[in-house]
Amino acid sequence: MTQDLFRHDAYLRECAATVLAIGDQGIVLDRTVFYPLGGGQAGDSGWLLLADGTELPIADTRKAKDAEGRFTDQIWHQAAPQAAAVLPVLKVGDRVTARVDWERRHRLMRFHTATHLLCHLVPQLVNGCSITPDYARLDFNMTDPLDKDALSAGIARLVAAALPVTVASISDDELDANPALVRSMSVQPPRGSGRVRTISIGALPAAGGQPGDGPKVDYQPCGGTHVANTSEIAGVVVTRIEKKSATTRRVVLGFAPAGT
Ligand SMILES: [Zn+2]
Repeated sequence: MTQDLFRHDAYLRECAATVLAIGDQGIVLDRTVFYPLGGGQAGDSGWLLLADGTELPIADTRKAKDAEGRFTDQIWHQAAPQAAAVLPVLKVGDRVTARVDWERRHRLMRFHTATHLLCHLVPQLVNGCSITPDYARLDFNMTDPLDKDALSAGIARLVAAALPVTVASISDDELDANPALVRSMSVQPPRGSGRVRTISIGALPAAGGQPGDGPKVDYQPCGGTHVANTSEIAGVVVTRIEKKSATTRRVVLGFAPAGT
């Protein structure tokens, strides 16, 4: 299996690892800081550094599948085309350093946490989600119109509040007893181990109270990588709202142009 270090610490930029397998689908390591495509969030890119310092560029990361198409507990690091010259040198058992493209990953983390802020601002079920390094989009199952500037102002307010973002977990049974925790109709909670990872944001100050004793801003099952504090999301705004269908409103997030 591949130990998924990023689930416990999204800020790990690199780790030492051993090559377990090399195949058509990619390179499997015993542990990694690379997030595999899932839950709407794009897979990481970066580099494997070989013992002699050679860089092997990784273009994408995926969860491995078995012959029946079921996800396994391995993660495939997909070599970039320009790695073709280096790839034949790599052997099973080699020690490497897995280094994620941190600048790209941090943008993914900012956008992913921003989509959870949107879930607070738009309390409707989500039926589509895509998080990329350049933009994120969230589709809400709703018919009422949404106001772009009001949502951007709402995000800015939650960013200015500098709310902590916390990773925890609940049991499958606890999740089954609280189905309302699942905000998404399109992304299944990250089950499989008997416990489901959760992300909570908050809490806002209660009226006249101490910081953090109000209700949580957001709490939902999620396997993605997140910033540790909403203040890191600064600069993310709603760039577009689309009426995708009669029952779907799409909210697109992007970075505000520099200087605004
Ligand atoms: Zn999420």
